[in-house]
Amino acid sequence: MDQQSSVGGHNPPDKNGLILVAGAGGFIGGALVRYFQAKGFTHIRAVDKKPLPEWYQHVPGVESLCLDLSEHKNCVRACENVWEVYNLAADMGGMGFIERFRVECLRSVLINTHLIEAAYRAGAERYFYSSSACAYNTELQKDPKVRALKESDAYPAMAERGYGWEKLFSEMVCQEYWAERGMKTFIARFHNVYGPNGTWDGGREKAPAALSRKVIECKDTGNNSITIWGDGTATRSFMYIDDCVKGVDMIAHCEKLIATPINLGTSELVSVNELVDIVEAIGGVKLHREYDLNAPRGVAGRNSDNTMIQSILHWEPRTPLREGMAKTYAWINQQYNDRKAGKRTVS
Ligand code: NAD
Repeated sequence: MDQQSSVGGHNPPDKNGLILVAGAGGFIGGALVRYFQAKGFTHIRAVDKKPLPEWYQHVPGVESLCLDLSEHKNCVRACENVWEVYNLAADMGGMGFIERFRVECLRSVLINTHLIEAAYRAGAERYFYSSSACAYNTELQKDPKVRALKESDAYPAMAERGYGWEKLFSEMVCQEYWAERGMKTFIARFHNVYGPNGTWDGGREKAPAALSRKVIECKDTGNNSITIWGDGTATRSFMYIDDCVKGVDMIAHCEKLIATPINLGTSELVSVNELVDIVEAIGGVKLHREYDLNAPRGVAGRNSDNTMIQSILHWEPRTPLREGMAKTYAWINQQYNDRKAGKRTVS
């Protein structure tokens, strides 16, 4: 019996069953493929619409397919003989992306809609959907000193325009596939995930990676001034990637959580200024800060209430921000140097 078997009615997975990871060329999907392979799963199918050379991670021994999952026929192909499905595929990015490209974010609804139907018709045992804290009511996030968001705070609904509404609708699709059709679905609302092997440049990167890159650039160019989006007071919590993939596994194998959205994030709330302090300390510099008040900044504050995950899984993401950021910074620094040397990099 594995360590998680006794937790919350956990159902130990069959290591020979075929696992599909959608969005496997991206940050979290790539890490999830690596996680399941390291756990001993022998049949993993990784799918992404990006051409294979652009995937963030390549895991040997894994069937890797380039398919656009917004098309029904590709979802049918991806789900052939599948046993478990993990949907991490979405057109997304940090605030700079989701505030500018709402149509692209909304169109991710096609991915989940076709994929869940294909999974159901293929007889999948369980289906996991990666939702987001952006599904929460924005009215509750207007103060940097926010009350942490608990799962019931998504309704009455006033999700973030575009991206958040797509997440909320797709959650409901997953809930109805259980209620009406009996397929076990699982839904985690991720709160800001960061770590190595993620986007760090190009417009889709999120604050931890963007700030790391900016500090690295300042050190490299000798510029002692950093531009920060917003006024630095906005607050968030940040979850390290290792905690995220472990949490996905635990949630997707907990019978008490069928069709039940649950927070997956840390409750360590920090302001953007505090995050800059951490990155500066890791980089060993102190920079002059300039605030761009016209840049996208999202809600004023957002934190994860972890009462539910603690009570059901007896676990919550715990990697200290300072520790996770040190690993992230080191990886981005390497990427930065590789790019300067003309080598292939993720961003
Ligand atoms: P990512 O952009 O690194 O990965 C998403 C992947 O999906 C990309 O590789 C992309 O090419 C792929 N994709 C997009 N459209 C596709 C399509 N039509 N067919 C097949 N593949 C397609 O993002 P991520 O950070 O790994 O996020 C994974 C999931 O977690 C997404 O659903 C995202 O909304 C959710 N999420 C992430 C965070 C975070 O902080 N990273 C927070 C909340 C929720």
